[in-house]
This record gives sequence, structure tokens and C-alpha cells, in this order.
Amino acid sequence: MRTKGTGATDGASLPEATLTGLGVSAGIAIGPAHVVETGFAQVPEYVLTQAAAEDEKQRFTEAVAKARRQLRKLKAKSASLPDAAAEEISYLLDAHLAIVSGSRLIRGVERRITEERLNAEWAVQTEMTAIAQQFAAMDDAYLAARIQDIRDVGGRLIRNLIDRQFQAYSTLPADSIILAEEITPADTALMDPKRIAGFATTMGGAEGHTAIMARSLGLPAVLGVADLLRRVHAGQTVIVDGTAGQVILDPSAETLEHYEARRAVLAAEQAQLRTLIALPSTTRDDIPVALAANIELPHEIAAVVDVGADGIGLLRTEFLFMNRDDLPTEQEQYEVLRGIVEGMDGKMVTLRTLDIGGEKLASALGPRFSPGNNPALGLRAIRLSLREPKLLETQFAAMLRAGAHGPVRILLPMVATIGEVRRAREILNRAARRLARRRVRMAPSLPPFGVMIEIPGTALAADAFARECDFFALGTNDLIQYTLAIDRGDEQVAGLYDPLHPAVLRLIQFSTQAAFRARIPFSVCGEMAGDPRYTAMLIGLGIRELSMTPAALLRVKGRVRVIDTIAARRRADVIMDQSDSSRIATLIEDFNEAL
Ligand code: PEP
Ligand code: MG
Repeated sequence: MRTKGTGATDGASLPEATLTGLGVSAGIAIGPAHVVETGFAQVPEYVLTQAAAEDEKQRFTEAVAKARRQLRKLKAKSASLPDAAAEEISYLLDAHLAIVSGSRLIRGVERRITEERLNAEWAVQTEMTAIAQQFAAMDDAYLAARIQDIRDVGGRLIRNLIDRQFQAYSTLPADSIILAEEITPADTALMDPKRIAGFATTMGGAEGHTAIMARSLGLPAVLGVADLLRRVHAGQTVIVDGTAGQVILDPSAETLEHYEARRAVLAAEQAQLRTLIALPSTTRDDIPVALAANIELPHEIAAVVDVGADGIGLLRTEFLFMNRDDLPTEQEQYEVLRGIVEGMDGKMVTLRTLDIGGEKLASALGPRFSPGNNPALGLRAIRLSLREPKLLETQFAAMLRAGAHGPVRILLPMVATIGEVRRAREILNRAARRLARRRVRMAPSLPPFGVMIEIPGTALAADAFARECDFFALGTNDLIQYTLAIDRGDEQVAGLYDPLHPAVLRLIQFSTQAAFRARIPFSVCGEMAGDPRYTAMLIGLGIRELSMTPAALLRVKGRVRVIDTIAARRRADVIMDQSDSSRIATLIEDFNEAL
């Protein structure tokens, strides 16, 4: 939705416009726009061997399938635009969809790969140029318009093939605001918060990994802004209000002043929160609640230490595999993990094995696995690791070695069966034996071995899993996604993503109690753990360990310190009797307001 602003503008500049999306990372960023080009800088060119041509054709087919998915998604999104714009964009996207669904461009590229043995990017570029030249020679206005469509689609295919993995954010002016159709978690990993002030995109949901990364980097972000790229241009002033979910283009002087004032209020609030660092995380009735940190990138360790976290409750090791074309060696992984373990100075670090797959395939693994039709339900996380036992053994070896430098626990993502835990444990034992044979220094004893509870079936069988492992970490992000069948990264269904759905709460309660019965540690490390609105309810359910982005930790601590556990438990009992999540939300709100 776009609304015209009322602020005064000078004759040359465009009037202010406010666009609405999903505010996924709170805060206000103001700065010059950096629009991520839908084009590409340099197309790689090489000649394939005969044997490689078949694989290359497959790679191209995947890029075409991805383009089709992207275009369908964009088309669905365009429905929320005002009528005239929706019609115009939908017409254009239909033309693009027709091209990727078997046009001369696609056939020509396939022929150039098999017959001329050009690599796919080069084949797209060559075929695109040949078609454009032919159309131009025909001197026909209709065909001339089609040239642009072919170039747009060709550009999209090349981008998908290159996988846009090397975004050069490092050269941007300070305080830049990135505006793009889509930003992947790998792109986000390259953003330096000292240089980038915030970002906004057309695609993406509130609980996807891009949103999580934005929160952990403290970058204000708004995702799912339908018509974001229609009126932006490089260098224009942009405000990203990650709290309200708004992007303001060409703000008037009055609007700028208003947002600068709000930014100052937020900074003052932050300074106030810092007074909590030195205080213990205990409830009003003196029950300790451990507050640990989730981290996605090694440099976040400074923020973790700064807020005084009780440890790392979730280290997502995916970063080790991102933005590169090869796989990290054991030594390389060990060095990075060791740095983190040493940085935590004796506090527990929970190392999760690779949680990658589906749409998130690392480029070094990409050629070996296809994303499948349902990436979230496909070959990802522990399933992929068990399919590639060498990869898992290498990770385990690096983790065991890092365990020589401080306490670590090992955590398996997306576990669905007991068999997976047993097979993973065998691989861990093998890695330990191999290190012992090599006389390599490692953890004095095998680290605690835990399971993520993030699949409803795993939560329901929590008693059985508790007998097989040493601790549970409950991931609310995937648990909600799979329980309610809502894609956590899709802005179109973001409104249906409901942490307070009774089914979700029952699964949390069920697995918490299974952990209590088995006397194994239990923590919550999904995004619910970092949202102070839910702190009292989680404490009321008996949870005493929460792990979250360091940026959320002090706010949650503030909440912990005013909660009485008996009152929280009583309220949780009432909540667990409800069947309607809006009633649950009201019960939580009332309880929080009275704190
Ligand atoms: C979760 O699913 O809640 C979780 C913590 O893991 P991730 O967000 O990395 O999938
Ligand atoms: Mg998960």
C-alpha cells in the first residue's frame, strides 16, 4: 500500500511516499538508498567438457525452475497493489512467465550448452543477444518491447545461476539503506552494521533467516513491501521503520525531524536497558532464569559478552558454509569454533550441526542436491548431514576439538526420528575415535548431545527422545511453521504465523514436561524466547532457560526480574485451558500490563 505524504517538497524532488510491509527488525534507519541491481556485473565464460554438459543443463533447468517460482511469487504479491499497478505488473510478469515456460530463449540456451558446450551463464547471455539483434532488425514496435522482457528474464536466469553470492556491500557509503527484491541470509551475513543502516525487500517473512539475521545484527528491516522497487533510485533518502513496518521514500523535512527524534528516544531507551547488565537474571521470587544467546556469525560474540549472556544457547554453524564455493575443512571450522568458545570464557557454548538444505543450499553442496518441490520438508539439516556422513564427521571433529578450550554441547537440528539421533551419535563416536588415534586434543569427555524439538512429531515423542539424548533445545520458529503449515519465510502467509496457537503451546508444554520427567536440561531458542511479551508465559510453563539474539536479551531480562513464578504458573494454567489464540493474547497482555 502506498500513501502520499503531506510534507512540503521542493519542486525538483518527488513527494514523500510511505510503503508498508512487515517490520521484522525493530529500530529506525535513515540514509541514502542502495538499490540492489537486478542486473549483473560480469558473466563467467568457459567451455565445458562433453561430460560436464549434461550437469550444466541440469543446473540451467534448476535456474529456470527457480525463476518460475520467483515470478509466481512476485505475481501473487502484486495482487495487493492498487488496481492499475496490479494489472500492469501482472501483465509484465505473465510475459516473463511465458518466456521461462519454454520459449525460444530457453530452447536456444539448452542447445548452446549441449552443442556449443558453453557454460549456462554464457549461453544465456549469447542467446539473449542473438534474439535481441534479430528482433531489432525486424523494426517492429511489438517485438522491440519484447526485447526488454527477454533481457529481464535473461538477467534473472543469470542471477539465479550466479546465485548472487558475492554482494559487494563493503564499498557502500556509511548509513546506506539496502533496497532489493530479495535478500538472502548469505547476503545479510555480509552486511556490516557500521556501514549499513538497515534494509527493505519485496520478499521475505518475519521468521525466515534473513529476518533473524537482521535482528541479530541490530539492523532495522522491513520485508514483504509489495511495490518497493517501483519508485526507488540510488542515493535518494530513505527511512526504514522496522518497528512500524514502514519504508518512507523522499521524506519531507518535517518527517525526517520526527524520525530523528524517535531514533533519539530509542537510543535513550537502549542506554537505560544497559543498567540491567550488572543485575542477575532472577525472577521477583528469586528463581534464576538463564538467558543465553543465539549467534549466527562469529563477530556477534562481542555483543554476547557485552550484554552478559549466560552462554550460547544456539550457534548456527551455517555461516561457515555461506558465501563460498568450497566446503570448510576440519581445521578451518575448528579455528572459528575455538575462537567462539574461548571468547565465552568458560560459559557453555551450544554448537548446532549444519542446518542447511532446501532453498538454503550452500553453493558447495548445491550441485549434489536438488531443492525438491517442498524444500522445508525435504533434504535439509540432520537429514542432509546423515546423507553426507563425511561432512557431519568433519563438523563433529571440529566441535570435539573446540571442546578442548571450554565447555561445549552438540545440538542436532530438525531431528524427526530416534534412528537419526543414534546414527549421528555413532558418527560422533567415530570422529572421537579418529581424533584419539591421531592424538589430537579434544574435549575431556564427550560433550552433551542434544536434539532440537522443532518438528511436531518430535515434540509428541519427546519422552522417547529424552531417553536418547542429554538435552533439548526447542525451536519455536520451525515448530510453528510445521505445526500450522505456514512457511515462516513467506510474507503472503505471515499473518497466519501464530506463536499463541493452542497447538503450538501444547507442544511446548508437552516437550517441557517430558524433559522435566527425564531430568534433562530444556531451553527455548526460537524467536519466541527473545520476545518479552512471551517471557511470563514461558516461565509459567516451567521453562528456566531462554536463548535469543543478544539484542533482545536485556529487554527479556527486564521482564524476568518483575515476574513472580507462582503468578506466572497460574496464568499459564489458565492459558492452557483456552482454545482461541486471540483470547490467549489478551490473557498474556493483561498479565504483562499488571507487572
Ligand atoms: C527454530 O527453528 O526455532 C530455530 C531456533 O532454528 P532456526 O531458526 O535456525 O531454524
Ligand atoms: Mg529451526
